[in-house]
Amino acid sequence: MQAAAEMLDWHGSGMGVMEMSHRGKEFGQIYAEAEADLRELLAVPAHFKLLFMQGGGLAENAIVPLNLSRGQNADFVVTGSWSQKSALEAKRYCAVREVATTQASGFTTLPAPSQWQLSARPAYVHICSNETINGVEYPTLPDLKALGCDAPLVIDFSSHVASRPVDWSRVGLAFGGAQKNLGPAGLTLVVVRDDLLDRALPICPSAFNYKTVADNQSMFNTPPTYSMYVAGLVFKWLKRQGGIAAIEARNIAKAELLYAAIDQSELYVNRVDVACRSRMNVPFYLRDERLNEAFLAGARERGLLQLKGHKSVGGMRASIYNAMPLAGVQALVAYLRDFEARHG
Ligand SMILES: *Cc1c(COP(=O)(O)O)cnc(C)c1O
Repeated sequence: MQAAAEMLDWHGSGMGVMEMSHRGKEFGQIYAEAEADLRELLAVPAHFKLLFMQGGGLAENAIVPLNLSRGQNADFVVTGSWSQKSALEAKRYCAVREVATTQASGFTTLPAPSQWQLSARPAYVHICSNETINGVEYPTLPDLKALGCDAPLVIDFSSHVASRPVDWSRVGLAFGGAQKNLGPAGLTLVVVRDDLLDRALPICPSAFNYKTVADNQSMFNTPPTYSMYVAGLVFKWLKRQGGIAAIEARNIAKAELLYAAIDQSELYVNRVDVACRSRMNVPFYLRDERLNEAFLAGARERGLLQLKGHKSVGGMRASIYNAMPLAGVQALVAYLRDFEARHG
């Protein structure tokens, strides 16, 4: 792997990336290339800033209201564990209105935007565009303008960033921790429209003030340099794969294969509405839950790891992020069939 080869000497500079000053020309080049590559990959328009921050998705649950709420209320659409957490955290900084929730369905569906009870003038509207734990993903982003709402849409795209294109005309701000699809933990990506930069509350910490971060090219404080470097290598890998369109096609193929295997079986079930099933996170249950331990043990024997579902929902979950090749999903599908033949 390139990061290992360059560990002690980056491009003949005599320094490893960890030894570099974040203000030196070598790291400057790493940063500039990562920024440009990601902007190109995600087709981010010029009137959006790309910020590299720290604190992960959960910190953004506080940082967003600190920057955008302006003493007004924010509207939240609650479709699973992550958006629920976001709404709870935002309550510490602004008034929160839950304008739609699918909790009654066990978070297995999405509420139609036409049914959202949007407030008259929310500071912003928050959604989680892919609910990692519940396996629910917006097939298209809601168009707030078409709903008569001028507020910016905020999306938590932590768990499917770079897996599909983003319609930036519908988005005011997007945030995501890097660790699911972009690279190592420690780096948080924020993509924010220019007109939203300058409205932070006075109590907003300077290192979390989007304008301060933007004005300093994400170097107001020392950024997570090594994570940015490795993420930059991932961006180059994504480009070599053919960019986001090619990655999306591969993700669709992977997801279709796995959902078809689950739907065709008598043993496994996925309870999410077909229209909003996640391409990244596929939760499923064994109809006979007494077989759970045997299922997981057999999977481990084949090198199929991390299939246990999140503790809050139980069952199983296959997370098939960008880095999971089609062959990995094919191996899982073969195991599903084998296990069912033996136990079904
Ligand atoms: C993983 C995840 C988070 C949590 O991010 P941290 O980086 O651990 O703070 C937030 N939102 C979503 C949708 C996630 O999948």
